[in-house]
Amino acid sequence: MFSYETWDDETAKELMDEHKDYYDILKWAYQHYKDKIVYSCSFGAEGIVLIDLISKINKHARIIFLDTELHFDETYDLIEKIKIKYPNLQIEMAKPDLSLKEQARRHGKELWISDPNRCCHLRKIEPLREQLTGMKAWISGLRREQSPTRKDVMYLNKDEKFKVIKICPLIHWTWDDVWNYIKLNDLPYNELHDKNYPSIGCRMCTLPVTDNSRGGRWASTGKTECGLHISG
Ligand code: SF4
Repeated sequence: MFSYETWDDETAKELMDEHKDYYDILKWAYQHYKDKIVYSCSFGAEGIVLIDLISKINKHARIIFLDTELHFDETYDLIEKIKIKYPNLQIEMAKPDLSLKEQARRHGKELWISDPNRCCHLRKIEPLREQLTGMKAWISGLRREQSPTRKDVMYLNKDEKFKVIKICPLIHWTWDDVWNYIKLNDLPYNELHDKNYPSIGCRMCTLPVTDNSRGGRWASTGKTECGLHISG
């Protein structure tokens, strides 16, 4: 099996040369990793596209949502709609070990303001690490045009943080591609997208913006990523 442990650049390149298309790489991933692959979905616009694509390849696929317990009501509403539309998918809510009350007691009332990196670590990174235990690969909806930190993402990535393979089928998709797919297939999506929220995370760390960027995430803090996609 091609895995974190057996990774070599040449094999990775050969696999990517062989599977040049987003659907082809996704199909290969499910055939190759079988029940050792999971999709960590944020239920943003890219997430909806990937769920639809994955359901065509493996209708029983396991999908996890990192439920920080701080998401918008609209996000939780969307998840319920998706569960109805794709009843066979195994959609799981991955929660942090610490309740919000316990987090406040140990680290202060608004950790997302005093130390957002620590907050993301406790509420996103550690829960994902737990979900990836025993897995060989995970799928992410990263697109290259999203931000400078994502411009070099490949279809297959050696994920040094979680010690698994990270598969990103949508790297070449543009924002328009994503929305064309959603509209063409009449897929449900987060209502906040129609209210100037192109990128949606936790409610206290997401603001509306006037372009299609991730600029509304952790606005004015200098932080641009939750840390899931940063090594170390
Ligand atoms: S996005 Fe904000 S509220 Fe959510 S886990 Fe990270 S710092 Fe905490």
